[in-house]
Amino acid sequence: TLSRGGDISVQGTNDDAQISKLSCAKLGYYRDDFLKYFVRRSSRRSPLINRGYFARVLALRQLLQQFFDVISQETVAGEEQNIVQILSLGAGFDTTFFNVEAKDRKKARWFEVDFKEVTQRKAAIIAANAPLHEELGPGAKESIHPGEGRIQTEALTVLPADLRDVKGVEAALLAAGFNPQLPTYVLAECVLVYMEAEESASVVRWLGSFLSTAACIVYEQIKPGDAFGRQMLTNLECRGCPLRGLQATPDLKAHQDRFLSNGWQRADAKDMTTIYRAYLDPAEKRRAERLEIFDEFEEWHMIQDHYCIVYAVNDASGHLRDFGFKQKTP
Ligand code: SAM
Repeated sequence: TLSRGGDISVQGTNDDAQISKLSCAKLGYYRDDFLKYFVRRSSRRSPLINRGYFARVLALRQLLQQFFDVISQETVAGEEQNIVQILSLGAGFDTTFFNVEAKDRKKARWFEVDFKEVTQRKAAIIAANAPLHEELGPGAKESIHPGEGRIQTEALTVLPADLRDVKGVEAALLAAGFNPQLPTYVLAECVLVYMEAEESASVVRWLGSFLSTAACIVYEQIKPGDAFGRQMLTNLECRGCPLRGLQATPDLKAHQDRFLSNGWQRADAKDMTTIYRAYLDPAEKRRAERLEIFDEFEEWHMIQDHYCIVYAVNDASGHLRDFGFKQKTP
């Protein structure tokens, strides 16, 4: 099945995100030894963009770490293999799998979904670069199928699927060994906003009924209505790619409500100004702030006001009682 015209430009947003993430990694905002293999033409971004991606990556890394930590507290020593699942929707060339510490990675079965064109490229890059496929374990190369856009190893599964067809995604996941009973961390980083409102709501609803113990994390744009929102959304991330869902989730409350009215027990949302101020590791922040000369404070705050992180939890097993935003005091 060929993608529709608009789908090609959505896929292009993946390359754009990875260029920015690599720009940060090269400047020392965070460590990522794997991203360079996924970026053909790297380019240095402005300090404003770099700091935004730093905040995005660190905030999401902190949440994932917290998920591993709360689940680990509840597990019996010696029973730490494959106790959680990670499901990354519209994962693109995201390298989180490769960057997670070995002790955590072995606790997880990792699933990624994206359009076939994207997973084909991802599979081909992983197959072509030993430092990548060696991370998948011995002999994993045979389990990478670039033509099909599929990777199926014990540690990492990459599947081609269109998120607008949730039944198809579910069937592909189940066929690949996904276990909806396991505590699952779902990440949708700059993905749902590219879908029509009904399509993203049906993803949220499907996840809410499919997964009984899960945290779902969404990172995306908000506040399209003000002057800066209109300007920012045409200039930054979107690259000629409409943010179709933005009118339906224009603010934090709408994001929370989308989860609460679609089968999730609790949900919370914060804008990135708040996250940056009170929820990022202060030492990391101080370190990052010394990397580049930065004086665009007014624009910085305006941009950060227009991005948010939302999380929702379903907690049938009680494992996720303590999962949520945690303030970090300096
Ligand atoms: N999550 C990655 C990150 O933040 O680094 C990539 C984000 S990129 C902005 C958006 C990704 O969502 C692209 O890889 C795109 O192909 C994927 N995507 C958008 N709509 C999709 C759909 N209907 N089905 C599958 N993937 C989709």
